[in-house]
Amino acid sequence: MVSADDPITIRLLDLFRIGPGPSSSHTVGPMRAAGMFRRHCLGAGVVPDRLQVELRGSLSATGIGHGTDRAVLAGLCGFEPEEVDPDAFAVLDRTLADAPSIRWGDHQVRLHPDDVVFADPRNTSDDFLPHPNTLVLRALDAGGSALVEESWLSVGGGFVQRTGDEGGKRRPPSPPVAPFWSGRTLLEQARAHGGLGAVVLANERAWEEEPGQLEAGLDRVYEAFRACIRRGLRHTGELPGGLGVVRRASHLNAQVATGRVEPSYRIIAQAQAYAYAINEENAAGGLVVTAPTNGAAGIFPATLAEAVDRLQLGREAVHRAIATAGSVAMVIQAHASLSGAEVGCQGEVGSATAMAAAALCEILGGDVDQVERAAEIGLEHNLGLTCDPIKGLVQAPCIERNAMGVAKAWSAAQLALNSGARGIVSLDKVIRVMKRTGLDMRREYKETSEGGLAVNIPEC
Ligand code: SF4
Repeated sequence: MVSADDPITIRLLDLFRIGPGPSSSHTVGPMRAAGMFRRHCLGAGVVPDRLQVELRGSLSATGIGHGTDRAVLAGLCGFEPEEVDPDAFAVLDRTLADAPSIRWGDHQVRLHPDDVVFADPRNTSDDFLPHPNTLVLRALDAGGSALVEESWLSVGGGFVQRTGDEGGKRRPPSPPVAPFWSGRTLLEQARAHGGLGAVVLANERAWEEEPGQLEAGLDRVYEAFRACIRRGLRHTGELPGGLGVVRRASHLNAQVATGRVEPSYRIIAQAQAYAYAINEENAAGGLVVTAPTNGAAGIFPATLAEAVDRLQLGREAVHRAIATAGSVAMVIQAHASLSGAEVGCQGEVGSATAMAAAALCEILGGDVDQVERAAEIGLEHNLGLTCDPIKGLVQAPCIERNAMGVAKAWSAAQLALNSGARGIVSLDKVIRVMKRTGLDMRREYKETSEGGLAVNIPEC
């Protein structure tokens, strides 16, 4: 558990990862884990006859809808999430079914889509399922015995952890210059540094290997936000997966552009069109940024992009907004979870709403206490939100839920700025309650598609 002796050292650019949709924990994380497994084996000179991946828990229950099988195949092929060509990614399972062999150093190794095994998702014993998103990777010899077997956990937001490595947390090169380990200590540092985002930027600048590296990384993240919005606004038609969900971003955007929406709704409608665009791209397997996850990828970037356009914000303000949003996600990640499979949608859409609310509040001139309050309000009013994606696809309720997250983030920022005396709930308290609520939540409501909308809508 993080403390004064062990402050938060999550890296900002580890939070905002570029990768294919539709899910950070079910697509990006498993792809990264498979890629690391490949590198370990190659580094150790292991040449297997064939490879096998076993998906367990939520990865098995909703893996097909989330493209987890394709993601692990891509990772084993050596594709990096940030660079994968979405078109090649979309047909990778068919490509491997036709030619089940991949390059492995100087060798060819068998890999067929059937080598991805979906374990019984009802087996939840601790030994079998140390985390709701567990995958086991095996390099097998010709007799089917494992030359190497590694068990990986996809813990949310694209973060992964190999079992047995819990003590080996990736450390930055030096202790943080502005250490914080909770919302309260983040706030204390923010008062000294002039903002929540300024705290994170001070730490990151002290850690960067070359001057300008951080700024270049933040530019890449922002450009990926905008590119995703542009693509999402261009595309129309039905999303893949057979659910019949039709893209709505371009229609809502046109309504705003032609003045057909109520003037009082204009700002939020514009940001919601951007959120639709991002989440529709995510659902279609396009490249998005975990903010903090793929499922909740639309809320913060859409809120930021709308504010940038309307208020003509420059590069520095954009970087600061990303850092402010990131600081909130870091505290949530350190004390609870950003994963729908662990704590339900409150951990994804709730966290994203808190991040967007904090960043918007700061953009609009809020002081550090108001920014913390905006984050708290954004999260508090998502407590208890369950994860129940229909057919395991990140479409319904996810896309619309991001648009609603934008409206909540806007309201949270405005309430924090304009309602005077502070409330009685701090960010730290609401994060603790979110974790407790997530633990109490039945597994049906944690990315298994066995509860809520996922089981009630198809039959209606
Ligand atoms: S319901 Fe929420 S947590 Fe679940 S997949 Fe959709 S966005 Fe993610």
